[in-house]
Parts: sequence; C-alpha cells; structure tokens
Amino acid sequence: MRRYHVTTFGCQMNAHDSERIKGMLEELGLGEAPTLEEADVMVINTCTIREKAELRLAAHLGLAKALKDADPGRLLAVGGCFAEVQRGRLFEQFPQVDFAFGPGSIAGLGEWLASERNGAPSGRFGTGEERRFAAELPGRRERPFQAWVQISMGCNSVCSYCIVPTVRGKQMSRPAGEIVAEIGRLAKDGVREITLLGQNVNSYGRDLPAGERLGFAELLRACDRVDAIERIRFTSPHPKDFRSEVITAMAECEAVCEHAHLPAQSGSSRILRAMRRTYDRERFLALVAEMRSSIPDLAITTDLIVGFPGETDEDFEQTLSLVEEAQFDGAYTFVYSPRYETEAASLPDQVPEELKRERIERLIELVQTTANARNERRIGGIEQVLVEGPSRTDAALMRGRTRRNTTVVLAGKVTPGALANVRIEAATSTTLRGTQVVVT
Ligand code: SAM
Ligand code: SF4
Repeated sequence: MRRYHVTTFGCQMNAHDSERIKGMLEELGLGEAPTLEEADVMVINTCTIREKAELRLAAHLGLAKALKDADPGRLLAVGGCFAEVQRGRLFEQFPQVDFAFGPGSIAGLGEWLASERNGAPSGRFGTGEERRFAAELPGRRERPFQAWVQISMGCNSVCSYCIVPTVRGKQMSRPAGEIVAEIGRLAKDGVREITLLGQNVNSYGRDLPAGERLGFAELLRACDRVDAIERIRFTSPHPKDFRSEVITAMAECEAVCEHAHLPAQSGSSRILRAMRRTYDRERFLALVAEMRSSIPDLAITTDLIVGFPGETDEDFEQTLSLVEEAQFDGAYTFVYSPRYETEAASLPDQVPEELKRERIERLIELVQTTANARNERRIGGIEQVLVEGPSRTDAALMRGRTRRNTTVVLAGKVTPGALANVRIEAATSTTLRGTQVVVT
C-alpha cells in the first residue's frame, strides 16, 4: 500500500483542511505514514500569515527535496495559503514540487493523484466561484469525540495587514442545512464537542441568497438543538460583527461554551483605524463589558499585534492598558510582519525589528501576569473537563479543557472523551491542575 504524510502549518482552518486531505487520500486507498521520511506521497499544507511560517516551510521543502533526490518515485504536493499566493512562481522557485493547490482546491489533489499525472495540470488554484468547501470531502478526525465544522470560507474585511482575503477570497457561507446535517452525523458518530470555523464566523450567512439567509445567532441555536453535542465553540469572530443577538444566543444555548476569542489587534484607536478594523478602543471595551454582563463566567481571549507601521510608544502603551482593562484570559501575540500586496506593507514608518522585539516581550509578560491572576481565581473551584488524552509532561496524568477553554492537567481514572469534574488545586498563566472529584 502506498503511504502519505501530511505536514500542517498555520491556523485551525488548515488543521481542518488537513483532516479532509487525509480522508480523501485514504478513500483513494493510501495509508498514513508516521513521518515524512516514510511517505510515498508527501503533502505540505502551508501558511503565509506571517514571514515566520514561510521560513519554517522552506526548511520542510528542503527536507522533501532531499527525500525526493534519494527516491525520485516519491511525490510532493504543496497546498494552502502559501501555495495560493505563490502560484505564479511556485514551480520555478521549488522545482521539487509535483502538484500545488490552493485552500479552495483541495479536491484537485485527489483528482490529480487518481489520474497519476496523465496529462493533468500540476496546479489547481482559485479564490472565486470555483472554490469548493473542504468540508464536502471525507474527513479523518484526530480525536473521535471532537470535530471542526467549516461554516464559511474567505473574508470580506480589508484589514490592512492581512493576506487572508487575497489567498482565501471573498466570504462564501455554507448553507445552514448542510452544516446542521454534518453536525447531526458527527453526533451519531460519537462527537461531543464541535468548533465552528470561519475566517470571520460571526458574519456568517450575509452572502447567502435571501431565501436561505440565516444569521450566526440563529445558526448557533440550530447547532445547539442537535442532540448529544455537549460543547459548541467557534473561531474566529470579528468584534465588529458581535451583535447583541449573538451574545444572547451564547448566553441561552446550553452547549455553547463560556469562551469567546475576540481578536482586538491593538488597544490604540489610531492604530485600529490604520488597520481598518472598523471599531475603536471604546467600542471594543463596551463589547467586552456587554459580553461579561450577559454571559456569567465568560473567558475572553484575544489576538494582539505589536509593531504595526507608525505604532508609537504611546500607541503601544494603549495596547498594554487594554490587556489590563479587558482582563483577557489569554492572548496570541504577534510581531507585525509585512505581507505581499497588503496595504500596510507599503506604509511609511515601519517599526524597527529591535523595538518590535522589546514591545512583544513586555506584552507577553503582561498577558502572562494577567492570565495567571485570572487562573488563580479558579483554585478551589470545580471545573467540567473534557478529557483529551495523557498529559504531555507526565504520562501518569491526563489533560483536557474546561468549557472556558483552559487546559487542565488532572489526576483521576478517566479516559479520553470523558467529561470529568475536577477540583482545581494549582494554576499557571496557561494551565490549571487538579484532581477528579468522584461523586459517591
Ligand atoms: N480572521 C481572524 C480575525 O479577524 O481576527 C484571524 C485571522 S489570522 C489567521 C490570525 C491572526 O494573525 C490575526 O488575528 C492577527 O492577529 C494575526 N495576523 C494577521 N496578519 C498578520 C501580520 N501581517 N502580521 C502579524 N500578525 C498578523
Ligand atoms: Fe484577516 Fe481581518 Fe479578515 Fe481576519 S477579518 S481574516 S484579520 S482581513
């Protein structure tokens, strides 16, 4: 049997797409190889959101080339956002690549493999009507009790730093009936937790034809009605699209978890305007307040960028004070990275690398202090944990996540997929520790 290996870079959408790539390859009769070295078909699902992702990719492409040189019978396919943005130059730059495909053209890989290169073109790209939802392909889930569910692709925003609209195209929502039917099948298959995925999940539905149009709040309610789904998550929402009806649906739907990932990007209204985020600091903080008062015990995490062109010390201080005011439970922090063909890449006043480094270090420290203090408040309480597997650092312990999406390392007699009540005994900025409480 020929074997494949898929290497995944980037976001949750890429993780989802890789599961579909695996499912498609298995339908074609291939088996999974544990490493790239052992694979006949090497697939790399790429990311281009920041330069760092591309540097890591270059190392992988080098390894794949060495493997191909040693055994020219191997095939190398490159998919995802980097492949899409480089489509004109990719084969010239990396002649070791046999087939390349964009995020909306995953099915093309299966068709090309099935044709065994018999005259089939070696690339499939596109960000328009020709795109297909990866969700239409068979999937191979990493864990039997959790699943990603794609609800839309592409993005209609014009954030000035972001390459996503260029590589994934305009927003295209999946019909609600298809989404709910997929969740129903997943529930029957043993799934307990779903994560709805989109570049901008809460602008879901606005591009659907009038007769089929359903908003994100109604979609949440429809997902909540599916029996046996105990946890519903979603990522990423845009603060500008967080309407009151979505907050009410979050509060009222039992399965929707008490966690919102709310990417702020900056705490300075001046920088937010230059980023074209369409909200300012005050509106963001008002949203945080509304959400916290409507949804008891809500955890809020965020994305923050430092070193956007023109960011002054004062702007950066505003980002620090936003972390304190919003009391984030966690944050992904990024150093601004200029991206091809984005508006911000050609702005004057690019911030020197050294200053960006200094700022990100200060920001990370504050995020950790804030998250640590928030986690410490959980000590002594009981959290419901969905157990995911053994702890990464101590095989005698298990690891899982709370409804608020905090990782918990726990002692107890539990198996992956179980829901356990855990008494919290210790906390760090990213992890809680505790012991299972068994009711006798
Ligand atoms: N659609 C989501 C949103 O609107 O927040 C997430 C998009 S992106 C995959 C995830 C995060 O990467 C963004 O929230 C942003 O913080 C960061 N990011 C995007 N472009 C970036 C860039 N050019 N430099 C640094 N960070 C960037
Ligand atoms: Fe990028 Fe902005 Fe769209 Fe998010 S909302 S994917 S940051 S353009």
